[in-house]
Amino acid sequence: MIYLDNAATTQIDSDVLDAMLPYLKGSFGNSQSQHAFGRTAADAVLNARDKIAKLLGCRSEELYFVSGGTEANNTALKGICLAKGSGHILVSAIEHPSMIESAKDMAAQGFEVTFINPDENGVITPQTVESAIKEDTIFCAVMAANNETGVIQPVKEIGEICRKHKVFYFADCVQYAATNQLSVDFCDGLSISAHKLYGPKGAGLLYIKSGNKFSRLISGGMQERGFRGGTVNVAAVAGLSAAVEKAVKNQADEAEKIRKVKEHFVNRVLKEIHDTHLNGGGKILPSHANISFDGCDGENVLFALDLKGIAVSTGSACSAGAVNPSHVLTAMGLSPQRVKSAVRFSFGKHNTLSEADEAVEALKNIVSKIRSI
Ligand code: PMP
Repeated sequence: MIYLDNAATTQIDSDVLDAMLPYLKGSFGNSQSQHAFGRTAADAVLNARDKIAKLLGCRSEELYFVSGGTEANNTALKGICLAKGSGHILVSAIEHPSMIESAKDMAAQGFEVTFINPDENGVITPQTVESAIKEDTIFCAVMAANNETGVIQPVKEIGEICRKHKVFYFADCVQYAATNQLSVDFCDGLSISAHKLYGPKGAGLLYIKSGNKFSRLISGGMQERGFRGGTVNVAAVAGLSAAVEKAVKNQADEAEKIRKVKEHFVNRVLKEIHDTHLNGGGKILPSHANISFDGCDGENVLFALDLKGIAVSTGSACSAGAVNPSHVLTAMGLSPQRVKSAVRFSFGKHNTLSEADEAVEALKNIVSKIRSI
């Protein structure tokens, strides 16, 4: 089996799992309890928060443990906007559905929402952001790197523009964090998800710079300082912290290794299979390659690769039994044929050059078969 879908999720590292197990077995206490069991759990959460704060360069009180990227994005957009009460929201058209749908929810509640389109490379330019800002703009979401194309966004410049106009700038860093050093300097809020970093599913992190008011989405006890009720998943927090720590420590070497394998794959595909196109331009994550195969349906390429034990994905989403074309590639202005024929290959630290070669050989066969039908 060859796993080339690391953007969807990654395999948990065994030492990350080891960091979680004590809180699933012996140290099972509730972090809110006022006895020794509770204190052990609370200490684990406190240590995780302090450790991650140090790595990201923020204060521990600015971090919230949540269930993943989806909850972090929902909480940021809805929480900040609801606290303001009214205003204009800017969201890039290539955001993850957790951000796009949150913006639509806010539009239904009377907020004005503008979706900003990328250029043909999949980049949201700082100029487009600046020209979309209005007098009453309160929130802007432009992700650090796109999950379908891997295109890295000019977040530093966008952050500066938002700061100048006093707009809260939120960067979804869920895909970016696996292969890039992260700090909170450039934004007012960000999200991370552990399962994209060889950590557990159902564990995420939300950073909100202090001084920014936001409404909680989950009411309950005083967990997460009252902003997110519900018994803390201590094992998940321990896993998230271990995964973030490992990612930061080994990032540069791993990113280089991943880039080499991915580039070898992409160069071979573009050279050896005619009429193929890399989607997205400028700076792209070391891990991602979104490629269109003229004359093929991306879904068919995916199914044929799956039969050969190779896992990839397409950007299309199934809803109500219908397959919707990728909103990301469509927003980039690619033709419907090019969008339909796109396949996402996402590499991780376990992939090897020989796996890349095997995938190329399989693709050559599959694409030529599909094209001959
Ligand atoms: N944002 C991006 C860019 C993502 O790729 C994903 C996961 N596909 C999410 C948010 C949602 O993260 P989670 O799966 O942890 O809810």
